[in-house]
Amino acid sequence: METNYNADSPELRIAVIGAGPAGIYSSDIFLRQLKKLGDDMGLGTAARIDLFEKLPVPFGLVRYGVAPDHPSIKFIADALAKTLDNPDIHLYANVEFGKDITLEDLLPRYDAILFATGAIEDKPLNIPGASLRGVYGAAKFVEWYDGYPTAEREWLLDASEVAVIGGGNVAMDVARELLRDADYLREHTDISDNVYNGLLKNRAQTLHLFIRRGVAQAKFSVQELREMEKLSGVQIVVNENDFDLDDETIDVAGKDKLTRQMVEELFAIRDLSEDMQDGGNVDFEGNPANKRYVIHFNANPVEILGKDGQVVAIRVERTVTSADGKMTCTGEFEEYPVQAVYHAIGYKPAQVSGVAYDSSNALLANSDGRILTSAQNGVVCPRLYATGWAKRGPVGLIGSTKSDALQIVENMLEDLAKSSAKEYETALPALPALPGRLATDRDPKSIENLLASRGVKVVDFEGWKRIDAFEIELGLAENRARKKVVSKQMLMDIAEVKQ
Ligand SMILES: Cc1cc2nc3c(=O)[nH]c(=O)nc-3n(C[C@H](O)[C@H](O)[C@H](O)COP(=O)(O)OP(=O)(O)OC[C@H]3O[C@@H](n4cnc5c(N)ncnc54)[C@H](O)[C@@H]3O)c2cc1C
Repeated sequence: METNYNADSPELRIAVIGAGPAGIYSSDIFLRQLKKLGDDMGLGTAARIDLFEKLPVPFGLVRYGVAPDHPSIKFIADALAKTLDNPDIHLYANVEFGKDITLEDLLPRYDAILFATGAIEDKPLNIPGASLRGVYGAAKFVEWYDGYPTAEREWLLDASEVAVIGGGNVAMDVARELLRDADYLREHTDISDNVYNGLLKNRAQTLHLFIRRGVAQAKFSVQELREMEKLSGVQIVVNENDFDLDDETIDVAGKDKLTRQMVEELFAIRDLSEDMQDGGNVDFEGNPANKRYVIHFNANPVEILGKDGQVVAIRVERTVTSADGKMTCTGEFEEYPVQAVYHAIGYKPAQVSGVAYDSSNALLANSDGRILTSAQNGVVCPRLYATGWAKRGPVGLIGSTKSDALQIVENMLEDLAKSSAKEYETALPALPALPGRLATDRDPKSIENLLASRGVKVVDFEGWKRIDAFEIELGLAENRARKKVVSKQMLMDIAEVKQ
C-alpha cells in the first residue's frame, strides 16, 4: 500500500466536526498550544485543521441560538470569524458528518478527530397534554426567530395568553421575544422579514413564566433579568409569597456569588413589580403597560389541558423547595387559561453516527473529552475526542466552551505525543519517526476529492465572507447593522458554491 505522506511537511492533521464556538475555539487553541509546546513534546509545531460544519454557515448556536436582541453576544461571531481567518484552519461548511462523511473516511486522513457537534433539539416535556396543538419546544421557536436554515418560516402567534415553562436563560429569551415589540426587534436586531411579519401578528398579552423551584434555585443570569425589567409596555407581576425565603435558604444562596447576585436582582424585580402596580399597571418607564409578564416560582406544571386537540389551559402544582434544593409538591393545584405553551427545559446534544451516546447524561460518551466505546464501562477510542456541549451536556455559556477547549487540547497533545504510528492498525511502516502522525493518507486534497466525488457542495471561509458582506449590505439598506438570510439555497447561492 502506498502512502501520500509528504515528508517535507509533516504537519499534524486534525478534523473538527462542528463549527460552533467549541469547534472554533478548539481549533485556535490547538494551533496556539502546538506552537508553544509542540517542539518540547516532540510533535513539531505545524498542523492543519479541517473544520466540518453541517450548515452552510459557521458559528452554531451563536448564530442560531443566542437571542437576536443580544447583539453584544452576537458580536462573538465576529471574533470567531477572525479566528477562522487563519491559513491553518480550513472551513468545510455544508458537510454533514454521518451523511456526507463518516468515521471510515476520516480515520485514514486525520491523526485525531474532535467532535464539537453541540445541541439543537429540545428535551421532551413529559406531562399529559404535551402533544396538544399549541405546545412548542423552545428550540423550534428559537430556530424560527433566529432563521435556522431548515426551520419553519411561519409561526402562529395568535395566543393572547401564553405559558413558558423553565427556570433558565432560554426560558427568559423565549418569554422576552414573545413580549417584545416587533418594530423594536426589526430596528435593533438582524431578524429576517418573515420573523418581523410573524411578530407583527403576535397577540400575546399575558405571559406566565412557570419555574418549578424557588427564587434561590433559578438559573437566570443577572443580565437576562435586567433585560426582562426593561421591556417596553410590559408590567411585571410576581407573587409576594415566593419571596418569603427562610434564613437557611438565604445563607446557602449567599455562598455562591452568581446565585447571590441573581437573588438580589430578583428582589429588585419584586420591588419594581410593586412600583409598576402602584403606578397604575405601568411598565418600567411609567408608561401604560398593555402586556403582563407574570412570574410564578414554586409552580410545577403537571398537565396541559386541551379542547378539540388545542391547548386551553395549564395546571400547575405549588411546590416548596428546601435550602438544599430538594423540591416537594404540596398537593395544591392552580389552573391558568392559556392558548400556547412553550417549554424550555433543556436542550439535548445530537447523537453522532459511529460514536457512543450517554443517554442518561445527554452527551457523547466520553471521559475528560476522550470518546469511549460505550457510556457504561467503555474504554477510550484512540484518536477520538469531544468538546463543548457535545462533551459536557447542554449547560454553560459560550465562554465555558473556551475552557473546555483548553482541557481537550491538552489531552489531545499528550496522547499524540505518546503515540507512535506503530500502535495503530492503520499505520504504515513508511511513516516517519515523529509521533502523532497516525493517518495514512496525508494528501490535503484527498478530502476535497472525496467530497467532490460525492457531489457535496462545500462552503469555504471565502464563501462565508461573501454571505457576511451580503447580510451587512442588506442591513445597511434598512439602516440596520445586519439582516439575516434564512433560506439555505440563498445562502449557498451567495456563497457562490461551485460544482
Ligand atoms: C437558545 C439559546 C440561547 C443561548 N444564549 C446564550 C447567550 O446569550 N450567551 C451565552 O454565552 N451563551 C448562550 N447560549 C449557550 C451557547 O450557545 C453554548 O454555550 C454554545 O453555543 C455551545 O457551543 P458548542 O460549539 O458546543 O455547540 P453549538 O453552538 O451547538 O455548535 C455545534 C455545531 O456543530 C454543528 N454540527 C452538529 N452536528 C453536526 C454534524 N453531524 N456534522 C457537522 N456539523 C455538525 C452544528 O450545526 C453547530 O454549528 C445559548 C444557548 C441556547 C440554546
